[in-house]
Amino acid sequence: MIVTIDGPAGSGKSSAARGLAKRLGFRLLDTGAMYRAVALACVRQNVDLADESAVTTVARQCQIVAEDGRVLLDGEDVSQTIREPAVSEAASQVASQPEVRQHLVRMQRELGKERNLVTEGRDQGTVVFPDAECKFYVDAHPDERAQRRYQEMLAQGQTISVEETLQQIRERDARDASRVVSPMKKADDAIEVDTSTMPLEAVLDLMERVVRERLNSPAPKSQ
Ligand code: C5P
Repeated sequence: MIVTIDGPAGSGKSSAARGLAKRLGFRLLDTGAMYRAVALACVRQNVDLADESAVTTVARQCQIVAEDGRVLLDGEDVSQTIREPAVSEAASQVASQPEVRQHLVRMQRELGKERNLVTEGRDQGTVVFPDAECKFYVDAHPDERAQRRYQEMLAQGQTISVEETLQQIRERDARDASRVVSPMKKADDAIEVDTSTMPLEAVLDLMERVVRERLNSPAPKSQ
């Protein structure tokens, strides 16, 4: 079974995906980490992020593993480095390029073959796994999302204000939602979960219940 969890930055989708995969014993795929790893490789190689052909070459040449909570770029553990604000910004730019997306989408579909998977991103329910058995779209009020990102960054020792975090989130959301290829949006058949005032455990209880119901009574396959 494939479970997709899409939503904007700071919505709580990563914590939900991690917790749900653990509860279900499914593999976890963090597709945002794949875009971040490509962005980091580009930044390190001084590649112009607007140069689609150069960025695509980097994406094809680097080896990325983004499963089960760890991210490796050409064998190096970059799990922390890819969370830096400059990489978030670069990832969003890299992600607007169609050829880069095509390459990563192919890798994601490959990883979704013949295994139970919880996969999180922006386009997992709409583009990458449109036939997924269970889809969620996680969102929260922008102020709440900014507050969460701010706390995460403080914990990482970064100096930034809540206002700056909110500004960054708004810019990234606008770019992710307005790009031509695979814009961030809720799939028609996704269940919307507003985490603004919902504790993580309640989000997980809701998601686990839905998945288990569908595991027990799979929807008939259309002919
Ligand atoms: O989810 P995360 O914040 O780690 O994603 C980083 C960036 O990667 C997003 O801002 C978005 O531009 C891009 N992304 C995407 N499609 C995905 C996952 C992430 O475009 N499936």
